[in-house]
Amino acid sequence: MGTSWWLWALVAVCTGDQFRDEAERIMRGTPVIDGHNDLPWRLLTMFNNQLQSERANLTILANTHTNIPKLRAGFVGGQFWSAYTPCDTQNKDAVKRTLEQIDVIQRMCQMYPETFVCVTNSAGIRQAFQEGRVASLVGVEGGHSIDSSLGVLRTLYRLGMRYLTLTHSCNTPWADNWLVDTGEDKAESQGLSRFGQSVVKEMNRLGVIIDLAHVSVATMKDALRLSTAPVIFSHSSAYSLCQHRRNVPDDVLRLVNQTGSLVMVNFYNDYVSCRPEATLSQVADHLDHIKKVAGAGAVGFGGDFDGVSRLPVGLEDVSKYPDLVAELLRRRWTETEVRGALANNLLRVFEAVEQVSDHTQSPEEEPIPADQLQASCRTMYGYSEAPSLHRQPGALLASLTTVLLGLGLL
Ligand SMILES: [Zn+2]
Repeated sequence: MGTSWWLWALVAVCTGDQFRDEAERIMRGTPVIDGHNDLPWRLLTMFNNQLQSERANLTILANTHTNIPKLRAGFVGGQFWSAYTPCDTQNKDAVKRTLEQIDVIQRMCQMYPETFVCVTNSAGIRQAFQEGRVASLVGVEGGHSIDSSLGVLRTLYRLGMRYLTLTHSCNTPWADNWLVDTGEDKAESQGLSRFGQSVVKEMNRLGVIIDLAHVSVATMKDALRLSTAPVIFSHSSAYSLCQHRRNVPDDVLRLVNQTGSLVMVNFYNDYVSCRPEATLSQVADHLDHIKKVAGAGAVGFGGDFDGVSRLPVGLEDVSKYPDLVAELLRRRWTETEVRGALANNLLRVFEAVEQVSDHTQSPEEEPIPADQLQASCRTMYGYSEAPSLHRQPGALLASLTTVLLGLGLL
């Protein structure tokens, strides 16, 4: 009896190792491209973005989910680094802070060229895979970072932004966020406003991936309907497994399937199990569910490392991706499905976004209406009274009449 238990344990251990070995073999050819990592935010809050400070050394950085040895152990080959600035910067210094976070990502690439290479297209990611470096891309998290300006959107594109999350956890003047669905925020645009639609069109024209993590369901549906390219959820999980409004409901997952889009699963315990505790196996349940409803081509990883306080047992930092891949293999995912979730699905979406982009098309030019711009401490150059009077000769006539009447001339 004792012997048979030993044998059983031995078989279990050997099988476990076999899947782990298989995961590593696959990841040597196809490393993971993760959709969302908040290390740049940690660099701001811990070191005020001073990368040369001794404690900021990324080869020995402690107390973070991400550092260079952990990225290597996790077979991370591509990362959308989050250029994030919180909602309390909206209508204040959001644009400046976004520029500073893009700058710290680019300085990270400069300072550790043997590990990181900043790239801006899918060919660059493939090249980085060949070189064994981490393809580093900029994802701007939160539409407030463009301050309701198409000019800022275009300039951020030129600085390397390749996805923009349409909102963070606050409405912008042109798109509603997920808190509208919990009732904590009021719906303002009922999805995307007219200007919001023009932001989406301009992102298509430029070749910026539309990211729908953090937005309301109405915004998800508007963007999925309007975008001529597939979209991503850079760090969201499945609503039907954990009823948190940051997650993606099944009817939207079906739209993801129809549009060739992608959901990169978030590992944050509160979105995985809806509880403070979660496990690696529960994350695999989300991957399984999205595969079942939206197809194997719709699955990716968006760990949200260094942006969250609680992570599942077994997925404590970025070194653990191979353990998650081993779990998928244990669940009989095929090698093609696994390579899709690791990198190929994101590459497919990115290439489609690149194909749709057309810089010969005329840019979107119509500014957001002045009365939709919020906050009083902004100048209003360009929104002069004169043009609106030109457009309203009746109004001009009426005010002239008032003046002339006042003078007793009529
Ligand atoms: Zn987020």
